[in-house]
Amino acid sequence: MSHNESLFERAQRSTPGGVNSPVRAFRSVGGTPRFITRAEGPYFWDADGKRYIDYIGSWGPAIVGHAHPDVIKAVQAAAANGLSFGAPTEGEILMAEEICKLVPSIEMVRLVSSGTEAAMSALRLARGVTGRDKVIKFEGCYHGHADSMLVKAGSGLLTFGNPTSSGVPADFAKHTIVLDYNDCAQLEDAFSKMGEQIAAVIVEPVAGNMNLLRSTPEFLQTMRRLCTQHGAVLMFDEVMSGFRVALGGAQSLYGVQPDMTVLGKVIGGGLPVAAFGGRADMMKHLAPLGPVYQAGTLSGNPVAVAAGMSTLKIIQQPGFYENLGTQTRKLVDGLSVTAKEIGVAFSADAIGGMFGIYFSERVPENYAQIMAGNKERFNQFFHAMLDAGVYLAPSAFEAGFVSAMHNDAVIDETISAARGAFAKLNS
Ligand SMILES: *Cc1c(COP(=O)(O)O)cnc(C)c1O
Repeated sequence: MSHNESLFERAQRSTPGGVNSPVRAFRSVGGTPRFITRAEGPYFWDADGKRYIDYIGSWGPAIVGHAHPDVIKAVQAAAANGLSFGAPTEGEILMAEEICKLVPSIEMVRLVSSGTEAAMSALRLARGVTGRDKVIKFEGCYHGHADSMLVKAGSGLLTFGNPTSSGVPADFAKHTIVLDYNDCAQLEDAFSKMGEQIAAVIVEPVAGNMNLLRSTPEFLQTMRRLCTQHGAVLMFDEVMSGFRVALGGAQSLYGVQPDMTVLGKVIGGGLPVAAFGGRADMMKHLAPLGPVYQAGTLSGNPVAVAAGMSTLKIIQQPGFYENLGTQTRKLVDGLSVTAKEIGVAFSADAIGGMFGIYFSERVPENYAQIMAGNKERFNQFFHAMLDAGVYLAPSAFEAGFVSAMHNDAVIDETISAARGAFAKLNS
C-alpha cells in the first residue's frame, strides 16, 4: 500500500470522507487523493515523494508560486511578534488601503477569514442596506456555503429556489432566485416582475467554479443597468477572479463597476484572509457604525495579513501579469495544438492566470454547454496527467491556475505529458 493510500484510509476514520473540503477526496475523478508534504514554486510533493507540477495553486492563492521567499519571510517576522491580539493592528490598515487602491470600486473594506464568510456577510449587508430579502444568483456560480447560496433553480423560471444541500431550510432558499449565466433576457424578466424586492445580484464576473466560463460584456452591463434602475446592490464575487484575471480583477477587464466586491484566495497569499467592500455609503451600515452585525475573532489576523500584503506587493512588480498571462496562454495553446494533432475533441480558454480545459470542440458559452462536455474523457485525462506528474483540478468543473513560477520548462513538460495523455484517450 502506498503512503497516500494508507494515509487516506487512516484519515477516513477520524474525518468524514478523509478530507476537510470535499473536492480533495477525488470523488469526481476516482482514485486516491494525494497527501501533500511540501511545495515550492510550481511544484508540490506527495507522501510517496512524487513531484507534481501544480495547477491548482491551493485553488488560487499560490499566484506567486509556493513558498515564495518574500512571503515566508513576512510570515515568519509577523509570527515572531505574536499570532493574534483581538485588537487592531497597523497591518490591517495597510491591507485595507492596498485593496482600495487596487480595486477602485472599493471605497471601504472589511477583512474576514474565508470567501464563504465574506460573501455571506456582504449579502447580509446588501439586505440591510436595501431592506429587501430576495437575492439573484446564477446556476453554476459558487459563493461559498452560506445557506442562502446553496440553492438551485426551482421548477420554473422565477419560482422559489430549492436547497442543493440537506440542512438548508426551504424558507431560506425561497429568497434566492437562480437564473442562467449569460442570459440577459431572464435578468430583464426577473427585474420587471419583482425588481422592488431584489436586494442584490451576486455573480462571478468570470466564473471559475463550473470550469472557466467568461461572462459576456452585455450580461454584466445589463446587470449593472437593472441594479441601478431598481435600487438593488450589484455584487461581484471576485474571490477567485480578483488579482487572478488581472491586477484589478474582472471588473477592470470589463469596465463594469459593482457596488460591492467579495475577495479571497489571492489576498491571503495562502493564509486565511478574505474581504468584502465597496461603496462607503453601504459599508457604513456595518457594525459598529451601523445596524448590520458582523464580527470575527481572527479577522485581520496579523500573520495572515502579512502573507497577503507581501503577495499583493509581489503581484504589483512590473510585468507580473504580462508574464502570468503569457505563460497561461502558452499552456492552453500548447494543449489545444497537441490535442488537435492527436485528434482529440478539445478546447481551452485562459484569462490572466486562470484557465479552463474542455473535452468539447468549442469553448462553452453557458452552463448547459459546460455540462454537456465529456466528463469521462476528462477523468481519463486527469489520471494520465497525474501519473505523468501533473496535478490538475480533480474535477471537470473547476478552473485551473498558473503561477508566476510556471516558466517555459514547466509548461513544456506539461505539454509533453499531455501528448501522452491525449494519445491514451485515443487508444
Ligand atoms: C472559493 C470561492 C468562494 C469561497 O471561498 P472559501 O474561502 O473557500 O470559503 C466564494 N466565491 C468564489 C467565487 C470562490 O471561488
